[in-house]
Amino acid sequence: MRRRVSESLYSKSSKLMVGGVSSPVRAFKAVGGSPLFLARGKGSHVWDEDGNRFTDYVCSWGALILGHADPGVLAYLSRRMRDGTSFGAPTREELRLAEKVCSAMPSVEKLRFVSSGTEATMSALRLARGYTGRPKLLKFDGCYHGHADSFLTKAGSGMATLGLPASAGVTDGAAADTITAGYNDVAAAEEVFRREGDRIAAAIVEPVAGNMGVVLPDAEFLRALRRLTASSGALLIFDEVITGFRLAPGGAQEVYGVKPDLTTLGKIIGGGLPVGAYGGKKEVMSMVSPEGPVYQAGTLSGNPAAMAAGVKTLGSLSRGSYQRLSRLAGELEKRLREEAGAAGTTLSTSRAGSMLGIFFRDSAPRSFAEAKDTDTKAYAKFFWGMLRRGVYLPPSAFETVFVSLAHSQRDVETTAEAASAALREARA
Ligand SMILES: *Cc1c(COP(=O)(O)O)cnc(C)c1O
Repeated sequence: MRRRVSESLYSKSSKLMVGGVSSPVRAFKAVGGSPLFLARGKGSHVWDEDGNRFTDYVCSWGALILGHADPGVLAYLSRRMRDGTSFGAPTREELRLAEKVCSAMPSVEKLRFVSSGTEATMSALRLARGYTGRPKLLKFDGCYHGHADSFLTKAGSGMATLGLPASAGVTDGAAADTITAGYNDVAAAEEVFRREGDRIAAAIVEPVAGNMGVVLPDAEFLRALRRLTASSGALLIFDEVITGFRLAPGGAQEVYGVKPDLTTLGKIIGGGLPVGAYGGKKEVMSMVSPEGPVYQAGTLSGNPAAMAAGVKTLGSLSRGSYQRLSRLAGELEKRLREEAGAAGTTLSTSRAGSMLGIFFRDSAPRSFAEAKDTDTKAYAKFFWGMLRRGVYLPPSAFETVFVSLAHSQRDVETTAEAASAALREARA
């Protein structure tokens, strides 16, 4: 594998940009070595600056459910962009996207567009506090909700990748207002609500966790959160930045049949452009300015280009898309398990639709503690073994493998062939 151009670009970037990257996990710290600079993508493949081609399972961290450079999205986007890229005024395109989101997710009666998932979750939390008049937040270990101060305790994604329990720069006050409990731990959540239920503004959860690898919820866990928040007057926030339009048009809330008060979205609804949204009950959302006293604004919010990419992406998804995604990801899961068995490598997987978690441990984890109990050194070897054989996996054991609609049965086959050798190396 040629690396010369990427290495040279990385060494230049590292002098000007922190860690040489715009977001920490991209720096490959957890797997060692230096990151590849990607030059282009098409369908299920990406090419780096050295001209190497890879089957991509990062898919812009799940945003690209149609794969790279989807022709329909590109055509629509470029037509919209010829009419201007930003106005800071209402446009028809944001109404189109709002209609698509609200009709797919019945719990979202009204919404607000923002520019990232982080903005969505931090705004939803401010709203929950404004609505309830209460200060505290309950979050669950290993869930990642963006990088706002309140969420950076026992968080997944890059914090898990780098092994950080908390972030510097967060005040004791902000940290004290965040209570944490174990994912899938109903008794712990009950205890928190018993102790300080009348001080809790909201419980926030990834209804399927995708930032500690993939950890599936017990349906009873989600139902218990619904019950506990409702009876204490707190709001339930489902962070569906990954799962929204990934698991079903109505997200995890449709799959599990649990209706949150507020939902946060991002990734897929921007079709590969920067976007986020939060929405929910009319009565709650009406607290947001200009209708209500909870302030939240954004220069590029509802950006026409991002809205257009989202409109075309959501418009390209059908019920059949989800069957195809799930079938293909199921096939990939099965083939990886077979190859691990043949290689004598301890491997477990967990999967929700087209979200796949790979763990070098003997059973699929049910909590952050179990997710962390994976052999990260084995994952790093596996990652590099796969990369050398043309498969681009997330550069961390605590991220999700995403299958897109552009992936094919052939991609699954070539991935399984690469895994056959890479899993042997990972074991050694
Ligand atoms: C990616 C992610 C976020 C943050 O979104 P950004 O656009 O990166 O700010 C929040 N919550 C979840 C569940 C995510 O996966």
